[in-house]
Formats: sequence, structure tokens, C-alpha cells
Amino acid sequence: MHVPLVLLDFLDRAVELYREKPAIIGEKRTLTYQQLNERVQQLSHGLTELGINKGDKIAYLAPNSEEMLEGFYGVFQVGAVMTSLNTRLKPEDYLFILNHSESQVLFVDHELFPLVKPILDKLETVKKIIIHGADEDHEKGQSYERWLSQFPTTTFDRVPLEETDLANILYTSGTTGNPKGVMLTHRSNYLHALTTQHHLRVSDQDKLIHILPMFHVNGWGSPFYYTANGATQVMLRKIDPKAIFDKIEENNVTVAHMAPTVLNMLLEYAKQENVPKNKNMRVVIAGSAPPPAFVTRVEEELGWEFIQVYGMTETSPLVTTSQIRSEQQSLDDAAKARLKAKTGYAMIGSKLRVVNEYGEPVVADGKSIGEIVVRANGVMEGYWKNPDATNETIREGWLHTGDMATVDENGYMEIVDRKKDVIISGGENISSIEVEGVLYEHPAVLEAAVIAVPHEKWGEVPHAVVVLREGEQLTEEEVIQFARRKMAHFKAPKSVVFAEALPKTASGKIQKVQIRKEYWGDGA
Ligand code: ATP
Ligand code: MG
Repeated sequence: MHVPLVLLDFLDRAVELYREKPAIIGEKRTLTYQQLNERVQQLSHGLTELGINKGDKIAYLAPNSEEMLEGFYGVFQVGAVMTSLNTRLKPEDYLFILNHSESQVLFVDHELFPLVKPILDKLETVKKIIIHGADEDHEKGQSYERWLSQFPTTTFDRVPLEETDLANILYTSGTTGNPKGVMLTHRSNYLHALTTQHHLRVSDQDKLIHILPMFHVNGWGSPFYYTANGATQVMLRKIDPKAIFDKIEENNVTVAHMAPTVLNMLLEYAKQENVPKNKNMRVVIAGSAPPPAFVTRVEEELGWEFIQVYGMTETSPLVTTSQIRSEQQSLDDAAKARLKAKTGYAMIGSKLRVVNEYGEPVVADGKSIGEIVVRANGVMEGYWKNPDATNETIREGWLHTGDMATVDENGYMEIVDRKKDVIISGGENISSIEVEGVLYEHPAVLEAAVIAVPHEKWGEVPHAVVVLREGEQLTEEEVIQFARRKMAHFKAPKSVVFAEALPKTASGKIQKVQIRKEYWGDGA
């Protein structure tokens, strides 16, 4: 008889096989799998007492912490759906997401509570607020530890779940517009976990340091497969290079997932402070198209294997890896770094195509550009309460990623740009990322964003918004000439403006949609 693919299996396995092993090394305490499990039982008893039923939404606004991890399993046991909120949003964003998701309970970290205080009166569905890390009850919210301690650690009688039941609704980063609520089932999360742990070779000897925020899909997915393997998870509330290296050293950490911007920070810090290489750290996993030289620096200076992955909230997230395959093992290191810097090829359980506007595959020559479309076990059910956006994204059984890429004869894809960011000038497609790459080569440039602006003759032309490093000066003409020396003239910006800063999402991505609005209005 087969069992439904429900995420609670992962906790059950770990409790059975690794009962006394540390599950979580938090900043305040260490919890064994047995202790974690007891707190999960208490949480489920508590949620039931609050009247939570199957399918209800429970919101979390918290940094990476033991409370967050126990929340996953405690919420699933009562059949409820978790919606985790980005910790860097504004009060009005929380108001939108909490009401839109119809959340019944809000668990919020004591340091983040002030962010939701101004909107408490406008919440339509939240009936209880529980505060992590608060010693005392608050007028508007109860202390988590005091609340939890009222409930027994005895085994909770679980609400039966089907694998097609929702596990979570995660809101996208909002890089290209308003955040959308992505509905993921137990099945999609479960199969994503099995696939990813295989590609990343996760075992019970691993110690993971959580650096990616668990509220975001990139950090949300990994706790499942590290739990399933009985690995230990080290929690860090705040991202700081010294704290990261100290935790790695203290705890013999073996693996970390992080954004390239954080990895860059670690490289700089390690160089400045002469941080010795740690021989336990076996691998670092990162997304977002790093240059090959960056891959080489990570492997040589930190001594960590680099794996690039690609994915999106809508696919649970990971669907590709760029790990070196056996037939490429004989290549020299520079060629391997070039392959690792690509977006990669399909993971098990994912089918990927790069297609033209008619949905036909482009030539696999590493040059022809099309949109990446995906069929995968991790693909979402749709966007919560947004069927129009769902139908626009999932068409004829394929999820349209909005990412433009090339693919070569070995199946390696390389992202060129987001579809919305490509500049179409005189019938030529110009990758905004390519132009930005050239501008970043100028030593005075701190940040650059390139967008299309309307042009009478060419339809669209590239326009750059540049932020200069402190104390530096450049003219528009100097920037244009610099770019023209390095790339085809039609790709170089036709106009340049200088700004103090660029608009960014909470996860640090540049919001070109905001910049475009100035030139295109709301149709940007
Ligand atoms: P929104 O959908 O709200 O505009 P978003 O797309 O930034 O926001 P996420 O789901 O967090 O929200 O990010 C997924 C996107 O991140 C992908 O579609 C892709 O553009 C980018 N990305 C992810 N991995 C990589 C990678 N390895 N290389 C380049 N880009 C990547
Ligand atoms: Mg997106």
C-alpha cells in the first residue's frame, strides 16, 4: 500500500532514527530531535485549542530560528497551511499579505512585532497573535513560551492529510510587480526535497548553517531534506560575516546555501581577516548567475565546492543544477568554472525547454534565445486567489518562467535576462544583464540598471541608471563611450542618468519595474 507524500514523514523518520541527536543548534539553545518533536506536539495541541482547522492559514514573521522550524511541523499536524512573511517588508505589505492569505494566527518575532503593530486594527482574519522570544505577554499578543508551556508533549492526534493538500502559500519577491501567493502542496515540497537532497548529496553527517531566510522559498525547502536525513541545522538570526565564520568553525558546519551577494561578502571578509580554510565545509550552494571568476575564487580562497542552482517560488524552487557531469571531469579548472557559472541542466523530476514565442524549442547551440518553460514535480498549484495570473503563467501544461535563456548541445542553459527586461532595438534583442555587466567593469560604478526606453527610430533603446561609488565622478558621455568601447554600439546605452540608489526588493533584487515606470507609466 502506498502512503501519501506528506512532509510530516520527514520528522517521523528523524525522531525514530536520530532521537538524541541535535536537530537544531539555535542561538539560545540546542534541541535534540526528541525535544523538537515534543515542542511540535505542544504547538499542535495549542493550535487546536485556538480552533484551527484543516486548510486554515497560519502566518509566520520570524528570522531563522528553532521556533520557525517547529512551526512547520506543528502547523502541518493540524492540517493547516503555513504562510511565511518576508522580514523586510513595510507595515502596509504585511496588511495586504495577512488579509489576502486569510491568516488566522500570526506568530511574530519580538524584534519584528513593531512592524505589524501599526496595522493590527485593520487585520480582517487574524484572531490571535503570539510573540516569539517575548518573556511577558503583551497587550496585543501572547508570549510564545508561556503559551506553549500550557500544552502537553503527548503525541497529537494528527489531522489526516492527502498529498494534494496545501502545505504553504509563499509570496514571490515582487521583483517584477506585486508579490503573488504561490500555492505549494505537500507532494510538491516532498518530491522537491527528495530530488534536491540527491543532487546535493545530503547525509546524516551534514551540518547545515541556515543563511538563506527560511521565510523565502530558497530557505523554506531545505529544512525538509536536512530533517529527513537526521542532519543538524544551525540557526543564525542575523547575517554577518564574522558570525557566519564563527558558527561554521564552532559547529563543524559542512554545508550552506546562500545568495551570491552574501558569498561575496564572505570572500571579502576572509581575505581581509585571513580566515583559515575550514576543512569540514564541503559545499556552498548559490543561485543568480555568478561570473566564472567568482566560482574560482570561492573554490580556491574558501576551499568550498560551488554548486549553482536555479529555480523560482513557483517551482518549490529548484529545477536545475550546474554540477560537473562525469563526461566533463577531464576539463581544466577554468572550463569547469565556466560550466558551473551557467544556470545548469535539469534536476531529476524536472523537464525544461527553451522555447520561442510559438512554444517551439530553440536551436540548442548556446546562442539562440528563448523563454525557459518547466514541467516539474515542484510546480505550484497556482497563485492564491489570482486565476488570471495562474492562467497566464501555466499554459499548455508548461510553467512559463519569464526567464530568457540559451541552451547548448549538452543541455546546459544560461539565463540571458528576464523577459520583461529584454530591450528590443531595431529588431535586435539586447540583454540588459549584458549591458549592466559592462558598466560594472568601470571602477567608478557601484550599481547599474539598464532598461528599455521608447525611441522613434529603433522602437526601444537601452538607457542606464548608474550609482557611483563614493567620491567618484563621471559624465553621461563618459559612460556611453566606455560601453561602446566594450560592446556592439547598438547595445551600449543611448542615455545615462545618475542616481543615489536603485529601488530594490526585500531580498535585494533591483526592481527595474519601478525604474521603467518613469518612462512607460503603469504599463511598465
Ligand atoms: P516576482 O515573481 O514577484 O517578480 P521574483 O521572480 O524575483 O519576483 P523569486 O521566485 O524569489 O521571485 O525569484 C525567482 C527568479 O530569480 C527566477 O525567475 C530568476 O529570474 C531568478 N533566478 C533564480 N535562480 C537564478 C540563477 N541561478 N541565475 C539567474 N537568475 C536566477
Ligand atoms: Mg518571478
